[in-house]
Amino acid sequence: AGRVQGKVALVTGGASGIGRGCAERLAQEGAVVVVTDVQDHKGAETVEAIAKAGGKASYLHHDVTSEQAWIEVIAKVKAEHGRLDILVNNAGIGLGGSVFEMSLADFQRQQAVNVDGVFLGCKHSIPLMRENGGGSVINMSSVAGLKGAPNLAGYCATKGAVRLFTKAVAMECAADHVRVNSVHPGIIETPIWVTVIPQGGPPGTNAPPDLDAMSQMAVPLGTKGYPEDIANGVLWLASEESRYVTGAELVIDGGLSVR
Ligand code: NAD
Repeated sequence: AGRVQGKVALVTGGASGIGRGCAERLAQEGAVVVVTDVQDHKGAETVEAIAKAGGKASYLHHDVTSEQAWIEVIAKVKAEHGRLDILVNNAGIGLGGSVFEMSLADFQRQQAVNVDGVFLGCKHSIPLMRENGGGSVINMSSVAGLKGAPNLAGYCATKGAVRLFTKAVAMECAADHVRVNSVHPGIIETPIWVTVIPQGGPPGTNAPPDLDAMSQMAVPLGTKGYPEDIANGVLWLASEESRYVTGAELVIDGGLSVR
């Protein structure tokens, strides 16, 4: 049997990058995975890949900033599966740039996805987890939630918020056996970098920054990471192997934050 055999998992932002990696890994280990995102085409591709590999997954369109959308998604999970054991609050955006050039609208949009989305996810999912005696919530923060980074003030604000929100909710839900932890990735190869470091590639192109060069300089282990590196940590937090872990922060960054 898999490490999360028969458990029902919801992964937000599961159509791409780290979320897709988490959905695939949880499904490999026997979970029934509900993938949600706003990128419907990529969401369908994720579910197809999971099915091809012998896993169980379905896709729902879901904007995590909408409370109504959360109410509908959780109602569908309950109707379809009768329970929810694992929530990965992964959906997020990263908008880099100087504080002095960032519009209030962009600052607030980033808060809406990265912070409101995690708040709404906990608010509407944990009651369903409680009905079946508990569960595990994993909130995607970042190394940017542990320390500052130049031209990432707005993003750092959201990821720092996720870090402490996680600990407070962990205290509130411990008696109900709902564990709540945060994960802090470092430099992981996904499409998010195009907006985290705008104009990060060769001048005049819209190319992403060179993560290999960045990692060689900044990461003690010397390389960037991949979605599966984060997914392996998420899997552990989702499984019973971490049954005594709540309110914790799992840093997966090749040592980036330690330097
Ligand atoms: P990604 O862009 O590949 O994936 C993010 C997904 O979230 C996308 O599929 C996107 O459509 C979805 N999304 C965006 N807004 C949404 C909304 N309103 N509702 C629902 N879904 C929405 O990026 P990623 O790197 O895989 O990011 C996943 C998480 O990991 C994010 O929270 C990000 O901040 C965090 N993170 C990433 C890194 C990294 O190096 N890639 C490092 C630290 C933290």
